[in-house]
Amino acid sequence: MSGGPSRHDAVLAEIARVAGSSLELDVVLDRIVDRAAALTGADRTSIWLLERDGQRLQPSALYGMEPAFTAEWKLRPLALDDERLSRQVIETGAPVVVEDALADPRTDKSSVQFFGDRSILVVPLERRGDVIGTLFMNHVRRAYRFTAEDIATAEAIAGQAAIAIDNARLYGFARRLADQLQRSFRHAGEALASGADVRRHLELMVQLAVETVGADGGSIELLEADRRGTYAVARVGEPPSAEAFRVHFDLRGESGLLGTLELWSEGAPFEADERELLATFAVHARSAIEHARLYASLQAERERAHAAERTQAEFSSMISHELRTPLALIRGYVATLLRPPMPLPPEKSRRFVEGIDNAALRLQRLIDNLLSANRLESDMFTVNPAPLEVRSLVRRAVGASALLAGERQLEVSLPDLELWVLGDPDQLAQVLENLIGNAIKYAPPETAVSVAAQAVEGRVRVSVKDRGPGIPQEALERVFEKFYRVGAAGADGYADRGPTGLGLGLYICRRIIEAHGGRIWEENASEGGSVFTLELSASGSEIPA
Ligand code: ADP
Repeated sequence: MSGGPSRHDAVLAEIARVAGSSLELDVVLDRIVDRAAALTGADRTSIWLLERDGQRLQPSALYGMEPAFTAEWKLRPLALDDERLSRQVIETGAPVVVEDALADPRTDKSSVQFFGDRSILVVPLERRGDVIGTLFMNHVRRAYRFTAEDIATAEAIAGQAAIAIDNARLYGFARRLADQLQRSFRHAGEALASGADVRRHLELMVQLAVETVGADGGSIELLEADRRGTYAVARVGEPPSAEAFRVHFDLRGESGLLGTLELWSEGAPFEADERELLATFAVHARSAIEHARLYASLQAERERAHAAERTQAEFSSMISHELRTPLALIRGYVATLLRPPMPLPPEKSRRFVEGIDNAALRLQRLIDNLLSANRLESDMFTVNPAPLEVRSLVRRAVGASALLAGERQLEVSLPDLELWVLGDPDQLAQVLENLIGNAIKYAPPETAVSVAAQAVEGRVRVSVKDRGPGIPQEALERVFEKFYRVGAAGADGYADRGPTGLGLGLYICRRIIEAHGGRIWEENASEGGSVFTLELSASGSEIPA
C-alpha cells in the first residue's frame, strides 16, 4: 500500500473525524470508503452492512465505480448465503484474504469477472463484539499481496466505520426520539385537554414505539383494579408467536405498578440501544396513564358535583311538592267543614276529619324522615337500644298505618312466642312504618299488604310484602341509596311516574338497621310484588317477658 507513516496517520485521523461527525451516515460511509482507497491503494472499496434479520447484506458505500452504478448497486441487498466471503468474516469475526480471486473457490466468478478483481481483503465491522458488516478492499489492475500492516489498517478503518454507524444510529435515534416524543406529547396534551380517548392515545404510543424500533407489535396492559390480573388497553400488530423476541417494561407510578409495556419482534432480538429507547417510551406511557387517571378522577369529581347540584335542585322541588300535597288536602277539607251555614251530614264530616288526620300523618312521616336523614348524617345520630318485643312493635306499626291503608287489607302473621331484640323502639318503629307505608303507596289499592315476623337461628326477621310492581332487578340495591327513586333517574319529570316521594325512606331504614348491627334487603316475590326483610340479632331469653 502507498504512503508513509505520517500520511497514513493523517488519513486515519481524517477518517476518525468524519466518523465522529454528525453528517448523514450515507455521506460518512462514502467518505470512509473513499479515504480507505486513498490510504491503502485499493482500486475499489466497499462497506456492506448486515440487516436486522441477519440474513441479508445491505450494500452501503462503494468507492471506485461510477456514481450511477453505485446508486443502482445500493438498491440490491444480497443474501448472506450468496456472499461467501462476507459470510466467513461475519461467522468467524476474522479477516479473509483472497490472493487470487479467479482461482479462489470462495469467490463469485461472475462478479470477479465483471469487476476484474485480482486480490481481495475483507475485514469485519465490529460493534460491541458483534459483527455488523464487512469492509472490502479490492485490487483490480494487478494482484496484490496484503501485509499484516495492510490488514491492521483495514481493521482500523473498519473500526472507524463501525463507530460512524454507532454514532449515526444514536444520532438518528435521538432525532427520531425527539420527534416522536414531541408527537406523543402533543397527542397527550390534546387527549388530556379534550378529555379524549386515553386508550387511543396509548395505542398511538405503542404504534410509535413499534415503528421506532421496527418491532412486529406491542401492547400496553394495565393492572385490574383488584390487582389480580391485567387487561390490554392498547395493542398494535399481530399477536406474538411463541418464538418471538420480547421486551417488557413495568410501568410504575407513584401508587405502584400500573401495568406493562411489551414489544415483540419475530426476526431479531432487540438491541441494547433499542431497549434504552423503549424504556423512555415506557416512562411516557406511564405518565400518560397517570395523567389519564388524574383526569378521570377530576372528571368524576366534577360529574359528582354536577349530580349533587341536580339532586339538590330536584330535592327542593320534591320537598315542596310533598309538603304541599297533604297541606292542600287539609286546607280543602277544613274549608269545606267550616263553610257556613250548611252543616255536613255526620258521615261526611267524619270522612273529612279522617282525611285531615291521614294527610297530617303523611306530613308527620315526611318531616320525621327529613329530620332523620339530617340526623343520620350528623354526629347526633345514636341508637338507644332497649329490650324490645318485636311482635308488639309490629302490631303498633301496623296500627299506626291503618289510616293510610284505608280500605286495603293489612295482614299480620306473628308467632306465638315472644321475639326479643335489643333496639331503639322509635327508630325501629320508623323503619317498619316506612316499609308498610311504601307497600301501601306503591301497590294497587285493592291488594293486601302482609307483615310477618319470625325467629330464624338466633335472629329475628320481619318482612313486609306487597302485591305491587316489585323492584327492577338493577335497582334492588340502589333503592337503599339516598334520593334514589325507581324511574326517577335523570332530570326528567319524576312526578309523572306513579307516587311521588323523596327517596329517603329506604335509605333511612338501611342506616337504622345497620346501626343496629342488622341487615335489610329486598327481593321480589315469585308471584310478583316486593318483599322487604329486615333481620336483627335476637336478644336472649334472659330478657323478661
Ligand atoms: P320514596 O318512596 O320517597 O321515593 P324510598 O326510599 O322509600 O323513597 O323508596 C325508594 C324507591 O324504591 C321508591 O321511589 C320506589 O321507586 C321504590 N320502592 C320502595 N318501596 C317499594 C315497594 N313496596 N314497591 C315498589 N317500589 C318500591
